[in-house]
Amino acid sequence: MRVSEYPGLTRAQERKIKLAVEGTCELCREYFALPLLEIHRISRRVYREMGRDPSKRILVVCGPCHEHIHRLPVRVKDQRAMVARRRYFVRQDIRKALGYIPKPYSPPKTPLSEMYEEYFYHFPPGSFRLGG
Ligand SMILES: [Zn+2]
Ligand SMILES: [Zn+2]
Repeated sequence: MRVSEYPGLTRAQERKIKLAVEGTCELCREYFALPLLEIHRISRRVYREMGRDPSKRILVVCGPCHEHIHRLPVRVKDQRAMVARRRYFVRQDIRKALGYIPKPYSPPKTPLSEMYEEYFYHFPPGSFRLGG
């Protein structure tokens, strides 16, 4: 019996996040069957500068490690270091599972005509001639 620390997270999302870390506990680095892994939510009160990226607020841990994090407790700073050590694709997969798309990765496509309009707005034809 465990209380969900991440209300609103669907079973499918939870599964995707566990798959993103390839079924390993992010604390002890052991492999576990997916149902044995738990989603730990890093305390937000302390971790203020986390920003909007929800992948930075969670850790995937096994039961014993999860208990350890709360009982000890593991410092938020250290939990954060674990998040920072994630490989690029793991991070991407967790973000995807949470439905978070960071802005720099999805630039809106500007049609060519708009680009020209923009250009002529700043440099209208004939703007280089001196008026007289
Ligand atoms: Zn563990
Ligand atoms: Zn927890």
